[in-house]
Amino acid sequence: MHYQPVVYRPPFEANSLLLQVTRGCSHNSCRFCTMYRDVDFAAEDISQIAGDIAEARAALPYVRRVFLENGDAFCLPGEDLEKIASMINEAFPEVQVISMYASIRNIADKTDEELRRLHDLKVGDLNIGVESGSDEALQFLNKGYDSGEALRQLLRLKSAGISYGLNVIFGCLGHGRSAELAKDTAELINKTNPFLIFTGTIHADPGCELYEDMTAGRFEECTVGEYLDEEIEFLENLDSPGTFYFGLHPANVIPVQGMLPEDQERILGELKAGKSQKSLAELNAHPVRGSEGAIYR
Ligand code: SF4
Repeated sequence: MHYQPVVYRPPFEANSLLLQVTRGCSHNSCRFCTMYRDVDFAAEDISQIAGDIAEARAALPYVRRVFLENGDAFCLPGEDLEKIASMINEAFPEVQVISMYASIRNIADKTDEELRRLHDLKVGDLNIGVESGSDEALQFLNKGYDSGEALRQLLRLKSAGISYGLNVIFGCLGHGRSAELAKDTAELINKTNPFLIFTGTIHADPGCELYEDMTAGRFEECTVGEYLDEEIEFLENLDSPGTFYFGLHPANVIPVQGMLPEDQERILGELKAGKSQKSLAELNAHPVRGSEGAIYR
């Protein structure tokens, strides 16, 4: 198989066949992201992809899921994605889902008919870093869309039958601005009802604008207490039946997970209990960083 040196996948795709169809990320300028900063974006050659599919088929007797690499593989033109999905379906008739990272911008450049055809070719469970429902936060993070556009495009995906999970980031505007974000983000989730929400707190590694903001003192991260308050308020405003709440990112203050709404009260209880057990000094401190690439299991 053919992989660039840096390959990411969501934790839920641990057992999927990873098939590289692009290198890097077509946007590559979110304020907090260093994932593909050193990689020039490119689409893989179709013959390369066909060769990788043949190699995987020869090695793997059963492939249930395929995850298309890299940062926003859904940016490929609809026609190209249809070609790749058709090749996958032909080689692996047993495949159930072809998933990938996608952005709101990637949905906008596809027609409704293209989205429906991709759904028919088993494209689904897209992982979308929507991050926030606050326009100010989305602009600060340089996501390239506002919450109205996110809502429009996610509803188009839903109409086409393409399932998706949404990533949410707490603390997008930093210290003192946390409380106002929770309701906006919950409202976006409630209107779009993803099958999964993957939550995390904002963090930055060297090499991105947010890291420069932090080291220059222009951005102060939220405290442990602020992150917990935002997550609690977010959950208290969530009304998204059938959504799995995945809060196991190591950037989170307290790991929680469960199905909404049946586990919602339990998750809230765990967050509130965890908060009450912390001292004032712990609540006023910033989270310890360093293992953001890992996932609690
Ligand atoms: S967060 Fe996603 S869309 Fe933004 S630069 Fe990173 S990989 Fe690209």
